[in-house]
Parts: sequence; structure tokens; C-alpha cells
Amino acid sequence: YQQTFAIIKPDAVERNLIGQIVSRIEAAGLEVCAMKMVHMSRREASGFYAEHEGKPFWETLLGNMTAGPSVVMVLSGEDAIQRWRELMGPTDPAKGKPGQLRRDFAVSMERNSVHGSDSPESAAREIAWFFAGVELH
Ligand code: ATP
Ligand code: MG
Repeated sequence: YQQTFAIIKPDAVERNLIGQIVSRIEAAGLEVCAMKMVHMSRREASGFYAEHEGKPFWETLLGNMTAGPSVVMVLSGEDAIQRWRELMGPTDPAKGKPGQLRRDFAVSMERNSVHGSDSPESAAREIAWFFAGVELH
């Protein structure tokens, strides 16, 4: 049993894909144990993606993450971090396989529809960035 942090990014919310993405999560046997909608400010998106500050795609990344509301979630299950990354597929949607969310739904590498934590340390940091302890069980 492990927890991971997931985002349905603004490009996917805007295209009415919340339900289909949550359905895939549930069908894969991951449990949604916390969920809310947030429209990230520039400050919130910068803190969340701090590791990428200064990279060439930094401004585009902030622009896309603050373009509209996102759905943020905590997912749990055995090996949840790896299983959610596998369901999302690679950063570049074109490199994914059919059945992977980014391959099926994303527009481009910049607008790639979903986020997932890449390690237990980032999962803990990212969950704490968006959820207060009282919102989790
Ligand atoms: P995420 O952290 O959003 O789950 P990821 O772990 O697959 O995605 P990261 O390397 O952490 O990828 O990059 C964060 C986000 O920044 C990516 O999801 C993508 O939208 C954007 N990004 C990463 N690399 C590039 C790139 N070379 N060109 C354009 N955008 C990029
Ligand atoms: Mg990442």
C-alpha cells in the first residue's frame, strides 16, 4: 500500500476529460482517497514545479498549469507511484502506448493532461503541498 499524487491538468479539464480519466484510474484498481479542484496561481505552480525553474520550458509550463482549473488527487494502492506513472505513459504522449492516458488524451509534451509523482519523496512533498492532513484518511 502506497500513496501517490496526481493532477488532471488544465488542458484535460478544459476538454471535459475528468470523468474518463478518473474512470481509468478506478478501472486500474487505484483508489481515489482525496480529490479537489484548484485553479493554481503562478506562485503555487512555481512551488510545485520548483525543480524545473530555469529550464527552457519553464514559462510555458507555468502558463499551462495556471491556464484554468486542475483536479488534484491522492491515489492509493499497492505500488501506486509506479502504477500511476505506467497508466499515464511517458512525458511525450507520442512515445506512449495505446491505453496510456497521455497517448490517448494529451495534446503535446507541454499539454500532456496528467501529472504523477516520480518517487515516494516527491509524493509526500506534493501531497503536503496541496492537501492539509485533515483532508486525508
Ligand atoms: P509531470 O512532472 O508533469 O508528471 P513528468 O514527470 O513526465 O511530468 P517532468 O520532467 O517532471 O515530466 O516535467 C514536468 C512537465 O514539464 C512535463 O509534464 C511537461 O509538461 C513539461 N516538460 C518536461 N520536459 C519538457 C520538454 N522538454 N519540453 C516541453 N515541456 C516539457
Ligand atoms: Mg515530473
